[in-house]
Amino acid sequence: MVGKLIILTAPSGAGKTTLVKHLLQVIPRLSFSVSATNRKMRSGETDGKDYYFLSTETFQSYIREDKFVEWEEVYSKQYYGTLRSEVERLRTAGQHIIFDIDVKGALSLKQQFAQDALAVFVMPPSLDILIERLKQRATEDEESLRKRIEKASFEMSFQHEFDETLVNDQLELSLLRIEKIVNRFLGYSDGN
Ligand code: 5GP
Repeated sequence: MVGKLIILTAPSGAGKTTLVKHLLQVIPRLSFSVSATNRKMRSGETDGKDYYFLSTETFQSYIREDKFVEWEEVYSKQYYGTLRSEVERLRTAGQHIIFDIDVKGALSLKQQFAQDALAVFVMPPSLDILIERLKQRATEDEESLRKRIEKASFEMSFQHEFDETLVNDQLELSLLRIEKIVNRFLGYSDGN
């Protein structure tokens, strides 16, 4: 059996990472798709686990060699992409794959994999709450915060193109909801 694709997309600050981690724990035969990027490794990140960290030159040569199923310049001069080899290796091993990628990447994968892919848009409870969460992280300077807020409002306008929308208001409830949505899509029995 060939594995399926679960694509989670959310504006930065909507709480997507917690949902991904939860699904990896509770859903059988689910693996995380490690993307490639040319951005600098942050402290606490591991090459090959969080991302494949590539130089800009290598990333660009991979684009030319058609090694990506999809790739995007998510932020100015920061590239992110899903490696074809990663998807094929996991799917042919019968693993389902979970993706944490941006809106354009998500819609591109959905278009390519059609009914084999489930695209879920994770909404913050409101734009105000999202801004608060981003501010609390304090990892962002004013300029980067502004860019993330702008990008978030833009991304939220695409929610209707996704198979499912999940409003992440109460974490415990969201975890249950996403689990149910994914189980149902994969045909596991507790999706009812
Ligand atoms: P970060 O730099 O904070 O890890 O990720 C920045 C953004 O890049 C996030 O919105 C994340 O979803 C997106 N992203 C990560 N990997 C990929 C990928 O392979 N393709 C696309 N299109 N976006 C990605």
